[in-house]
Amino acid sequence: MIKYNLKCHNGHEFESWFSNSEEFEKLNNKKLLDCIYCSSKKIKKSIMAPMISSKKNDTEQIFTSNRNIQIEKNKLLKLRNYIEKNFDFVGKDFSKKVREIYYDKKNNKAIYGTATPKEREELADEGIELLSIPWVDKDN
Ligand SMILES: [Zn+2]
Repeated sequence: MIKYNLKCHNGHEFESWFSNSEEFEKLNNKKLLDCIYCSSKKIKKSIMAPMISSKKNDTEQIFTSNRNIQIEKNKLLKLRNYIEKNFDFVGKDFSKKVREIYYDKKNNKAIYGTATPKEREELADEGIELLSIPWVDKDN
């Protein structure tokens, strides 16, 4: 697993996990990556601040990066709470359920669940747009 800092064309920054760098390129080329804040599909890897620095600056750099993670985590936690409150959890049936909703014009249910990269690809081929968000732990 590899973590990337990503940035959308509206300047939102967020983190996401990928199994390897090819997976990021592949998903991004197929426009399967979304900004978690505005759903923009123009996603770039954001340039990370180099961690090589003089000893004097080490403390400050570490502090800054921890603080960023904390802010990011709080936002993701809010997002998670919102989703849990307003969406129905369907787990691994997600791709099946999302098709039912997509093809039934009267069905407007909001759901969330898990999909494999392959399922995401198939859904994208059918024109079904998905938003994926990093799922943060509630505790700690
Ligand atoms: Zn954005």
